[in-house]
Amino acid sequence: MEIVIFGGTIVTMGDKGVIRDGAMVIEGDTIIDIGESSEIKRKYPRYERINAAGKIVMPGLINTHQHAAMSLLRGYADDYPLREWLENWVWPFERRMTGYDIYVGALLTAVESIMGGTTTINTMYHYMEDYNEAMALAEAGLRGVVGHVCFSWRKEEDRRALESLIKRWHGKANGTIRASVDPHAPYTVDPEYMKELRAVTFELNEKYAYGGGPIIWHTHLAETEDEAKKVRDAFGAQVEGGVVDYMDSLGVLGSDVIAAHCVHLTRRDIEVLSLRNVKVAHNPISNLKLASGISPVPDLLRAGVTVSLGTDSPCSNNSADMFEVIKFTALLHKGVNKNPTLLPAETVLRMATIDGARALSWDREIGSIEVGKKADIIIIDLQKPHLRPVYSEISHLTYAAKSSDVETVIVNGRIIMENRQLKTVRADEVMERAEKVKERLLERLREQ
Ligand SMILES: [Zn+2]
Repeated sequence: MEIVIFGGTIVTMGDKGVIRDGAMVIEGDTIIDIGESSEIKRKYPRYERINAAGKIVMPGLINTHQHAAMSLLRGYADDYPLREWLENWVWPFERRMTGYDIYVGALLTAVESIMGGTTTINTMYHYMEDYNEAMALAEAGLRGVVGHVCFSWRKEEDRRALESLIKRWHGKANGTIRASVDPHAPYTVDPEYMKELRAVTFELNEKYAYGGGPIIWHTHLAETEDEAKKVRDAFGAQVEGGVVDYMDSLGVLGSDVIAAHCVHLTRRDIEVLSLRNVKVAHNPISNLKLASGISPVPDLLRAGVTVSLGTDSPCSNNSADMFEVIKFTALLHKGVNKNPTLLPAETVLRMATIDGARALSWDREIGSIEVGKKADIIIIDLQKPHLRPVYSEISHLTYAAKSSDVETVIVNGRIIMENRQLKTVRADEVMERAEKVKERLLERLREQ
């Protein structure tokens, strides 16, 4: 497909900054030209045109921490302490989920993500061969890193699932799906298994990564205050320096690791994250809802750590809305530090785009509008009372825009939503399937 998008304000999040009355050209899956509208229209007279006058054209948002299938648990159990929430509600429900349920849940999250301007998600869940999250993302046309979550109690099963996921999905769906290895957390994966998973990742990269991009690591880290104690109690490990420092002592940290949360960090932990170039996925809404605490993001940024943004699961958020996360991030750190200059609009918008791409080791291809990058683009309608007048598009995108303002979504050069109509799957059908799956899950829960 050859498309010229013209007349809008292009917020590139790259070297070209903001271009008013700008235009960009997509050929196949790639951005091939960017410039002034009049010049571009002259150069490419025969290409299909999208008139973006009065609109913002920007890179799609990148959600770096999700558990997509958990949309099925949205609103199922709220306002419980973490342990009670997991043990009495989430885990019993999840134990009854089939591959098909996981697929439908992920499909629902994919639809919600696309409609809210997200073009890439990084999701950690259980991989099953028959139906899975990767299948749902590919069907919806969403770009994603899909992982299989690993626990000490099911090592054999994990090895089989990882190999199958990576063989079947890494680099597939025209390169829009990548696979990852996801050790759940330092307190559920013993030190030996953690090291083994690192070795397995190197092997899998050797065997399968070629051409499909790197197979990265996605884990939870330093989410709650008692995490160091949990690691000590479970494995008798030394955790005096902090949980990040403990992970580093195992030799498993590197620039291909994305760590979700990083809320409770020692000074040493921050040094280690910076030294090893570990990427952070900040999930302010989930951390607030589960009362985990507030990540010291200004300190992380000062230490040079790449911080990206995530929603976490729709069960602890309770949506996949990245515009909400952007606004929360910009406000939260100002408020708790009593400093309105922290986390300015542009910094937060970078966290949701180019730094998100960096966090997934995918920034050579996505995260900004630049010639040679893949065309993952969203168009936002400014003709809304809450978006007028316009002084700064960056300000509006951070503080005023809503996910429902997203009008058109392009992933890998393919228009997957136009004027809020999905072109890949039927949103009403997906919602209906999710309701049916929910009913069946509740029946299964009642049966025992
Ligand atoms: Zn999570």
